[in-house]
Amino acid sequence: MLKKILKGESCAACRLCCVFDRYDVWETPVFTAETCERIRDVKPDAQFVSKDGGFISRVTEFGDDGLFTCPALTPTGCMLGNDKPFDCRIWPYRIMEIGGRRAIAIASICPELYERPLSQLVGFLQEGLADTIFAYADAHPEIVKPYYEGYPVLLFERERTK
Ligand code: SF4
Repeated sequence: MLKKILKGESCAACRLCCVFDRYDVWETPVFTAETCERIRDVKPDAQFVSKDGGFISRVTEFGDDGLFTCPALTPTGCMLGNDKPFDCRIWPYRIMEIGGRRAIAIASICPELYERPLSQLVGFLQEGLADTIFAYADAHPEIVKPYYEGYPVLLFERERTK
């Protein structure tokens, strides 16, 4: 979904968005029941809990490095391919709720995009991505996170559609 501004090779070499420490574990992606099953077929120990109609990883412990690795991550990349969760497909953009209004923010941890000019980051949203994100969130409100302090907000929705 971000192919126009984010090269696949950059993501493949990074994968920062697929590992989580105790401060950003709330960022783990929201899976569907089907993707949970696909992951469990390969990693039977993977555990999930339901969240507002979707499923998130049950994080019971962190590795010796202090990190939790998404169970869908394999040595060759995300096992879900084109079926990866919507919030992974739009990352480092995040949809969040601020004072009852939805907004799109950006995660500063993405070295590839965070360095881009603000005009480019906002411009890409205005070319249609923002509408796509808000429309998806209408049908899947489970992807909307409460606002997390420190995330630069790029764009607010014009009005609540739901
Ligand atoms: S679902 Fe795939 S892309 Fe998303 S965090 Fe897990 S491994 Fe990374």
